Amino acid sequence: MIAITSNKTSDERIQEIVQFIEKQGVQAHVSKGEDRTVIGIIGQADPKLAEQLRQMSGVEQVVKISKSYKLASRDFHPADTVINIKGVEIGGEQLVVMGGPCAVETPEQIDEIARLVKAAGGQVLRGGAFKPRTGPYSFQGVGVEGLIMMAEAGKKHGLLTITEVMTPEYVDVCAQYADILQVGTRNMQNFDLLRKLGTIQTPVLLKRGFSSTYDEFLNAAEYILAGGNPNVMLCERGIRTFETYTRNTLDLSAIPVLKQLSHLPVISDPSHGTGRRELVVPMTKASVAAGADGLIIEMHTDPDNSMTGDGVQSLFPDQFANLLVDLEKLAPLLGKKFDTQKEAILA
Ligand code: PEP
Ligand code: MN
Repeated sequence: MIAITSNKTSDERIQEIVQFIEKQGVQAHVSKGEDRTVIGIIGQADPKLAEQLRQMSGVEQVVKISKSYKLASRDFHPADTVINIKGVEIGGEQLVVMGGPCAVETPEQIDEIARLVKAAGGQVLRGGAFKPRTGPYSFQGVGVEGLIMMAEAGKKHGLLTITEVMTPEYVDVCAQYADILQVGTRNMQNFDLLRKLGTIQTPVLLKRGFSSTYDEFLNAAEYILAGGNPNVMLCERGIRTFETYTRNTLDLSAIPVLKQLSHLPVISDPSHGTGRRELVVPMTKASVAAGADGLIIEMHTDPDNSMTGDGVQSLFPDQFANLLVDLEKLAPLLGKKFDTQKEAILA
């Protein structure tokens, strides 16, 4: 249920309404908009509460929300969430490009790729130190050493960093070294991991499970938000369909749907979404046209010899740089800003 106040309702009155709600043993979440404030009510409210709120001065409307997720929904939070990380805004006008290898391999590899991501105009360096591999005998990542290598490369080249965290026990160490924590598709419903991520404030990029509905995806985001971490971005990375030509089917519709249902930033991953290098460029552009707030793209200096099988979907550095030049031209036509020359303002 949400209570919508009129634009004339004072902050003091909103506080009184919140106190009244909380006295009924349910939670109230206030979302201030330009001309109205939405008070979201979470918990098993007394059936009389809706009518009581309707009678209160300052309340214009009370609406029942049937969706199972609340904090992630646009009904509760009409304005777009913009996550500001050291001056880089995700979810606002700025288009954000995260680029880098599937996995951190060596200090030289991640340093050189970081240099190329920065030179092309990207703002975030991606790279997995802990890799969720389908088979137990495949390369599993270099671990904490990789976090350190990546943090150094990010710092040296003025890039934010994003890395995957797979278990609750590693959340703190990953958050110590990376600016954004990625939850992989295979862990979208690892509820213990989601709960742990709710206890910190580090931004989280939550990937959609490859067989998950939008509702399940938004409920997974709700776990993190409900724990107290508001800094969540959603990532469409392709779903499993009957098609085998592509590794996954990048669900482009997910981008505008998630923007409608939720206020959280939406990022597209055309690399895992297609699994084929030659499709990454067109699907990146399509994602921006569909309204994505950012991209996460695999790029490698020597994709044929990369330590995961994801070399086949990794762009070569010149392809990555040319793509970003194209995005610079495209973005303004689609209501976004992207400047390949602009230095990200990093504290
Ligand atoms: C990755 O980003 O390298 C990765 C493993 O992604 P996903 O969880 O989408 O497969
Ligand atoms: Mn990968």
